[in-house]
Amino acid sequence: MTYNEITYPFDTRPGDGEVLEVSDGLLWVRMPIPIPGLDYINLYLIEDDDGWTMVDSGLNTGKIRDLWREIYAKYLKGKPITRMLCTHFHPDHMGQAGWVTYKWKIPLTMTFGEWTFGRMLYLEAQKETPDYVIDFYRSVGFDEDMLARVRDRGFNNFRQAMSQVPMGFNRIADGDILTIGKRDWQVIVGQGHSPEHACLYSASDGILISGDQVLPRITPHIGVYPAEPLANPLKKFMDSIEIYKKLPKDTFVLPAHNDVFYGLHNQLDFYQSHHEERLNRLMQVCDSPQSAMDLLPVLFDRELDEKDKGLGIAEGLAHCHYLVGEGKLERVLGEDGIWKFQKSGAHHKAVA
Ligand SMILES: [Zn+2]
Repeated sequence: MTYNEITYPFDTRPGDGEVLEVSDGLLWVRMPIPIPGLDYINLYLIEDDDGWTMVDSGLNTGKIRDLWREIYAKYLKGKPITRMLCTHFHPDHMGQAGWVTYKWKIPLTMTFGEWTFGRMLYLEAQKETPDYVIDFYRSVGFDEDMLARVRDRGFNNFRQAMSQVPMGFNRIADGDILTIGKRDWQVIVGQGHSPEHACLYSASDGILISGDQVLPRITPHIGVYPAEPLANPLKKFMDSIEIYKKLPKDTFVLPAHNDVFYGLHNQLDFYQSHHEERLNRLMQVCDSPQSAMDLLPVLFDRELDEKDKGLGIAEGLAHCHYLVGEGKLERVLGEDGIWKFQKSGAHHKAVA
């Protein structure tokens, strides 16, 4: 095999409440997600000498707890779950972590950035949408109707998506080695999709559990959000690509969405060319000042509904901020109070 294209070595997927052994002592589990386009999350069980490590946990729904109970009863060979590791704080990954750690009386294992951010969002939840969130969306070009819906939505969604976020955790960090059963797993932290996303790499077996950092068929969501309005997550994502490119071409990738696959480098090359093409599109239209809202039809080839517009704005800002970071665009506040992006003048380049 050349690994120059994406290949999927399994022609089946585990059914609900079932597992598929993708390598010795390494089980692939799928759990439903009621979000169009995502549909399922992949979770993994790694056999240890005296128990199992769970990698990611699923959304906080009763159905998923039932499915886990089924899997625990059928496939753990009488051993307990001894470690709950979440790759990052997003609800499809961390939603059941509270339930799992409580049920098995075990700690939560995460990076500092992911646990802290998830714990912060959990505690920050409130009925009313905070002003800073409304101000952010106004400043990027939402109209009054869209702002009213942000207000009506309240600020409780993340908390509701969590069974709870444990008050303490065990820290993992980039470069750490976790010995689980016969394998050593190296923690490789990626950024851009989330603050400090943990992937696990077994050099002896050439396996990467990639979470949402590397996904086949789709590009990971890279967005700017109200908590960090000047963030440049696309730069972090592009830098992270170089880290994962150091892994061998024949790495077997176990991602959090779609199917387990070979072709890591091919997919990383695709991400680079995809984002570069989008950045080029922006440079072609930013001779005059453009808001993130103005840029949606430039970045997306299809009409977006309202929910997708929110995600699209976040992605659009990520691309604009990348170009600001490169000194190619500048960010200026319009008289209408909306941030605009336009090509930098020569004198700005000199400063940058
Ligand atoms: Zn995610």
